[in-house]
Amino acid sequence: MTRDEIMRTIEEENIHYFRLQFVDIFGFMKNVAIPKSQIEKALDGMMMFDGSSIDGFVRINESDMYLKPDYDTFTVLPWRNQEGVAAARIICDVAKSDGTPFEGCPRNNLKRVLAEAKELGYTMNVGTEAEFFLFEKDDEGRATTITNDVAGYFSLDPEDTGNDCRREIIETLEQMGFEIEASHHEVAEGQHEINFKYSDALTAADNTITFKWVVKSVAARYGLYATFMPKPIFGINGSGMHTNQSLFNADGTNAFFEEDAPLQLSEVAYQYIAGALKNARGFAAVTNPLVNSYKRLVPGYEAPVYAAWSASNRSALVRIPASRGLSTRTEIRCPDPTCNPYLALAMMLNSGLDGVKNKLTPPPSVDKDIFKMSPAEMEEVGIKVMPGSLKEAIEELKKNPIAEATLGSHIFNKYIEAKEDEWDRYRTAVTDWELEEYLDIY
Ligand code: GLN
Ligand code: MG
Ligand code: MG
Ligand code: MG
Repeated sequence: MTRDEIMRTIEEENIHYFRLQFVDIFGFMKNVAIPKSQIEKALDGMMMFDGSSIDGFVRINESDMYLKPDYDTFTVLPWRNQEGVAAARIICDVAKSDGTPFEGCPRNNLKRVLAEAKELGYTMNVGTEAEFFLFEKDDEGRATTITNDVAGYFSLDPEDTGNDCRREIIETLEQMGFEIEASHHEVAEGQHEINFKYSDALTAADNTITFKWVVKSVAARYGLYATFMPKPIFGINGSGMHTNQSLFNADGTNAFFEEDAPLQLSEVAYQYIAGALKNARGFAAVTNPLVNSYKRLVPGYEAPVYAAWSASNRSALVRIPASRGLSTRTEIRCPDPTCNPYLALAMMLNSGLDGVKNKLTPPPSVDKDIFKMSPAEMEEVGIKVMPGSLKEAIEELKKNPIAEATLGSHIFNKYIEAKEDEWDRYRTAVTDWELEEYLDIY
């Protein structure tokens, strides 16, 4: 969008409120609301904020930061239209007081990583599938894990009480320019998935945070609580964020597709898979960032546990969906929707490119159920186990040879520091499980 188009829309739609949004290193969307009188100043990138109050940003003595809006992300917010007075948002990059890009801004960082990939001749296309639960709230308005809904995978209307809410989420997203491809009830009770069209990686990251915000906002209007927490309930499926990704060549062809090759996948595709599998243990702390994330990555719930690939097998970490031609892609199935998509895409892209640059060969594809293989069989075909805890994942991230360059030193250090602190708080907490297990027998 051009500046003129934005100004025209502001007049035509009677937009009085304007939100400038950006993300912190944990992927939380932040926003500054400004009235109409400040819009020109905001579009000039002259709005300042105090970076020291944002987690993982900067120290107090270097805290003045500018918000540099990306005009392409300008969107009217359909659910904020009150009696004809409308609101809009725009996503911003964060710049330092001297005007240069701030290294701690995940969006700036992803742009840098994408520019490096472009120098190698590739652009990345991405489609994310963020699953979520719709839960009831208690009398005080707090989220519970209760759902009235007893429906299951792809089930039909009458049992699916989240249906009206899901429909409004979809309509809202469509009004905001999303192209919705499918939506369905997921495997677990109260669990849903809405698929929207893939795009270039930066837009996909923007869309992913916008999607989560819309889902939560619409659910709140239905008196429900939408959560993207990876494993809210023990014993049933958790919520993943399968990330479909492909590389495109400068001429617009899909670099993963090759008509006559085995499985019609190019050398580059195989190398990308090899790089993803090689670095999967290293990027887990970014794609699966919470203590709770590792309670999803266990056998039996369609979430991957082993770093293997397959053209069909849904227990594998990397699956190759059946479509070919321009839609040829890898589906990386470990990420969960609590990851910061800007950081997760940077890590997955550079992992794949590590394979391309070093011409790595993937281990053979695994088309049988990996959960039924013995450790010896796995070892023989080179299958690695994903980290079992956030602690293990942090150690792997620290050791990973591409992580610091991919995240930039600022984000890399702040991220690890915060995650170690999170782990320590968990490690020292006394949980319900311990009380139930030990209290009345010792
Ligand atoms: N919920 C599963 C996961 O955790 C995925 C289920 C599916 O999409 N088939 O990844
Ligand atoms: Mg899906
Ligand atoms: Mg799904
Ligand atoms: Mg999927």
